Amino acid sequence: MNILVCVSQVPDTTTKVTVGADGKTIEKAGVKFILNPYDEFTIEEGLRLREKFGGSVTALTVGGDGAKEILRTALAMGVDKAIIVKDDNREDSFSVATNIAEAAKSVQPDVVILGRQSIDYDSFGMASMVGELLDMPSISVVSKWSIEGNAVTAERDIEGGKEVVETTLPCVISAQKGLNDPRYPKLPDIMKAKSKPIEERAGVASASRTQTISMELPQSKRVGKILGDSDADISELVRLLHEDAKVI
Ligand SMILES: Cc1cc2nc3c(=O)[nH]c(=O)nc-3n(C[C@H](O)[C@H](O)[C@H](O)COP(=O)(O)OP(=O)(O)OC[C@H]3O[C@@H](n4cnc5c(N)ncnc54)[C@H](O)[C@@H]3O)c2cc1C
Repeated sequence: MNILVCVSQVPDTTTKVTVGADGKTIEKAGVKFILNPYDEFTIEEGLRLREKFGGSVTALTVGGDGAKEILRTALAMGVDKAIIVKDDNREDSFSVATNIAEAAKSVQPDVVILGRQSIDYDSFGMASMVGELLDMPSISVVSKWSIEGNAVTAERDIEGGKEVVETTLPCVISAQKGLNDPRYPKLPDIMKAKSKPIEERAGVASASRTQTISMELPQSKRVGKILGDSDADISELVRLLHEDAKVI
């Protein structure tokens, strides 16, 4: 089975994200990047499929040179091959999807696995777009699935419940938390992964379908007020709750 897992590099959740000088992108300087947490499930699922059905797992990312680090993580976890499609300027999700689909053609995957969402731009859209571009069925937010011969049965998380859907290979899925329990790479494998080859490809030019007009951080929370416990303070507190906060 040819398995393609798509991985995205995102700012570390502890990084203080700022908006770039253009007012439209996330500032890259000073940002610590990590493997998108949902893509740990993506890689693990690829490895489990290989353990069950044989074949090979290819990890693919679209991004700048720094994104090679997450491919090293994928190699340390056990993927057979890593590809980076060089694209230093993300236009929009569709341009990334176009690059993924173009690179996927050479892998000829039976299964393409992506994460449910990337935790930076949160578009949730990549799996559907890649499926469409590769002319494959796609199933998003998969928490459990099975493959019997050519038949695929997948359980999706939906609001307040589960949905079971069927399709056939080749197909695209996006991984939901709980699909598996991702393995931790062992230290010797992390060391070996540092010298493994990463295939570099040039990105294809693609017309973006959307244009970011502006980006802003949420308004900072209002500063709290500390009052004492005198009668006057309690009256003031009641007044503030009634007139300012309008909660009583
Ligand atoms: C500071 C910063 C700098 C960035 N620099 C670049 C850059 O130089 N070039 C560039 O192309 N992108 C860059 N990106 C974008 C990033 O690599 C992803 O493309 C973006 O996070 C995708 O977001 P989304 O909401 O469209 O994806 P979603 O649809 O929410 O992602 C779902 C899944 O799609 C897959 N996926 C998403 N993005 C990629 C990807 N790039 N490669 C492989 N699989 C992917 C993953 O499996 C992911 O779990 C940058 C992002 C940030 C925050």
